[in-house]
This record gives sequence, structure tokens and C-alpha cells, in this order.
Amino acid sequence: MDTSALLQEIKRRDPHHVNFQQAAASLLKSVSGYLDEHPELLEQGLLDCLLEPERVLRFRVPWVDDQGRVRVNRAYRVQMNGALGPYKGGLRFHPSVNLDVLSFLALEQTIKNALTGLSLGAGKGGADFNPKGRSDAEIMRFCQAFMVEFHRHMGPDTDVPAGDMGVGMREVGYLFGMYRKLSGSFNGAFTGKSLDFGGSVLRPEATGYGLIYFLQSMLAQQDQTLAGKTVAVSGAGNVARHAFAKALDEGATVVTLSDSKGTVFAEQGLTKAHLEAVGDIKADGGGLDQLAERFDGIRYHADSRPWGFPCDVALPCATENELNEADARQLVNNGCRWVAEGANMPCTAEAVSVLRDNRVIYAPGKAANAGGVAVSGLEMSQNSRRESWSAEEVDRRLRAIMERIHGRCLEHGGDHRQPDYLTGASVAGFQRVARAMRGQGVL
Ligand code: NDP
Repeated sequence: MDTSALLQEIKRRDPHHVNFQQAAASLLKSVSGYLDEHPELLEQGLLDCLLEPERVLRFRVPWVDDQGRVRVNRAYRVQMNGALGPYKGGLRFHPSVNLDVLSFLALEQTIKNALTGLSLGAGKGGADFNPKGRSDAEIMRFCQAFMVEFHRHMGPDTDVPAGDMGVGMREVGYLFGMYRKLSGSFNGAFTGKSLDFGGSVLRPEATGYGLIYFLQSMLAQQDQTLAGKTVAVSGAGNVARHAFAKALDEGATVVTLSDSKGTVFAEQGLTKAHLEAVGDIKADGGGLDQLAERFDGIRYHADSRPWGFPCDVALPCATENELNEADARQLVNNGCRWVAEGANMPCTAEAVSVLRDNRVIYAPGKAANAGGVAVSGLEMSQNSRRESWSAEEVDRRLRAIMERIHGRCLEHGGDHRQPDYLTGASVAGFQRVARAMRGQGVL
């Protein structure tokens, strides 16, 4: 089937899966030139298979809240593509979770994992459970109930989940504990674990740090460095906070952070002390308005996003479609020259067009945020060898992987002074997974 017929078919089958349609359209557009040169990849229904999950699991998660009431959530695992290795990708606990969101994330993960060069297939899962405001005991009961069903579908050589939004080290601990008990096996079937039982150093930091390493490669391409640049970051979670910390270490001024309620802006730049306070506020379930209350020189803007403030670099690190066409125009008008995605698909398709039309150098999440899954891959290696590497070793490998991903993007990204990272990343990732699928026959 040709690519436009394929997109039509995707829309006909799942008209409400608008996020998946957006991700699929972006991928197909980016690889169309490459497919013209490699028509053999259109054979064997390869594209049709790439865009259809190998398997989707949907299950209920009944659990008991602190008042003794039974609650029932809906959970999924999209096992998207196993051509390169065990399904690998995070679990998200958020009320917005549905099959559309997880399918788009799983497709992005397929290209991202291929780009890392590691032996990783791709999957994504989660539940429409809202951890906010839940007690520790409720979170534990939910995680355990989730695993009562999911444990039979995973394992170190089949499906290796990790964290994502709403799933951090605490949740991974509860999930892994129940997996271990039910499977009767202590193995590397989860990444993002605590250092106390098989986790890798730097896994929590990896996505944010990797984003900054990728950004440094982008800047170096134009004989620039991060030192002295003004950076706008969105989000106040795992990715945002570690990207912020590393950007500060590299001499940048970070002027914003945001959450689902609003944005904080500090003209003179946010500091490590602010970052620490954000960690405490978020751990207590608070909002960023509290940061502005605690410190001078910080303004809080309710219901707003960071994209209206002047910056050289924008790093969207919160959630999908958080930067739209109007935001992109504001960034362009305010002089922003680089956008690198820490979140998955945070820029809408229209925003990406505005950025590219205005020669803003744009890197998609499938390349720029691959540091998390890369260190998950390193955690799997450490687990299977029963080793734990030092922070220096993991950081060195993370930096090398991000530089290699950057290099792969350049191979297919046109003009090296003004690279097209979207095309470069999509083609390089697609090429690897498509070859593996083709070599394994029609499956
Ligand atoms: P967290 O749950 O730690 O943080 C998410 C942040 O985004 C929170 O500050 C949250 O605000 C904010 N947020 C959520 N929804 C919205 C919204 N609609 N508008 C504005 N802000 C919002 O998640 P992560 O940092 O782990 O993940 C962030 C992104 O990065 C996601 O797209 C994820 O898929 C992607 N990613 C994560 C990786 C990882 O290793 N963790 C790896 C690769 C990609 P609030 O605090 O108010 O809830």
C-alpha cells in the first residue's frame, strides 16, 4: 500500500486515534524520499506491519483505596515491534492514558530504540490511574494489582518496561517487587530500578542529561556552545529537572520551568537552589506558584506556557502537543534558534512547520530524548552480566550514544550546517528496523 493510502486506512480504522495519526503522518512524510530510493522496503507489507502493533494487551486493574472502596482502572501494553529485541518502553500512569496516546508513544519508541543502535524492540504501556493525591499505600496496591495481570506478558527477553509520566523509581520498585514474587525470578525485566536492587546509576538523570548532550552536538555543528545561552524549559518532572541541572552545569541560563497549572519565569535565571525547592514542592504535590512565593525574582504565570519568553534554546520536556503553531511563532519572533524535544511529540505538526520554515534548528524527541532508553539498555546489560558500572562509565557511554545518534541523524539530514534532524532521525531509525523486519520475513 502506498503511504497516502496507508494513512487513509489508519484514519478509517481508528478515527479517534489523532495522536497516532500525527506520529504516523510525520514518520511517513520524513521517510518518503528514502522509500523512493528503496522501493523494496514497500514490499512484504512492511510499512503496514510497522504501523500496526504486534500485539495490544488491555486489562482491568481493580484495587482498594484507603477508604476501602474498590476502584477499577483500565490498563494497556502496546507491544509494537520486536524485530530488534525485547519490547522496551515505559509505563505511564496518568488520567489521559488511552490506546491512542500509548500507540503514538510506541511508534515513536520504535524509531528511537532503533536509533540507539542497541538490541531493543519497542513497546509502551500504562493506565488511566492518577497517582496525584494518592497515599503511598494506595500507589503500592495499584502497582501490585497492575502486575497481577501484566507479569505473565513480560520478562527480560520478551518485554522490559520502565517508567514514564507518573511512574518513577518508587513505582518501578513496587511493580518489580510484585513481578519478582509472581514470576519467582529475580532478573532484568524492569529498568529504572533503585540502585538497591539492580538499578543503574544515572538512569533517573539519563533522559535530561542525554537531551543536553544531543543539544551540545547540535550547537557544535554551528560552532556554538551552550555556555551563555538562554534556555526555556517546560515541565517540572524527571526530564525537565535533569535537563535543567545539566544545562546549568554547562553554563546556560535557564529562565523557565512549568507544570500543568502554569509557568515560572526568572529573568536572571533559575538556580540549583530553585531546582531543589521544585523537587520538594512536587514531592508534596504542590504547584510552581509556591516557588514564586518562596523566592524573590521569580514570576508565576498561571495557565501559561514558557514559549512567550525570549530565549536562544527551547526544550519542551512536559508532554505531547504542548507547543503549538502560535507558540512556535512567538519563539521565532523572540529570537529562539534551537528547539530540542525532551518530551515525546511536544510540538504539533504545525509548530514543526513554523520552526523549520524559519530556519530554527529542530530536533525531534525520537533522537533528542533517547538517553533514557539508552541507559535502560545499559541497565539491562549490567543486569545480565550481574555488574554495576560507575557513574563515570555510564555517563561516558550515554554521551557516546547521544553523539552516535546525532551522527546517524546527520547521515540522512541534508545540509550539515542546517541539518534536518526530523528526516535524519526518522530515516536512520526506520532503516534499521525495516532491515531487521525484512530479514525476518512476513510476521
Ligand atoms: P513526569 O511525570 O516526571 O513530569 C511531567 C511534567 O509535565 C510534570 O511537571 C507535569 O506537571 C507536566 N505536565 C503534564 N501534563 C501537562 C500538560 N498538559 N501541560 C503542561 N504540563 C504538563 O514525566 P517525565 O518527566 O518522565 O516525562 C515528561 C515527558 O518526557 C513525557 O513526554 C515522556 O513521555 C517523555 N520521556 C520521558 C522519559 C523518561 O525517562 N522519564 C524518557 C523519554 C521521554 P504536573 O507536575 O503539574 O503534573
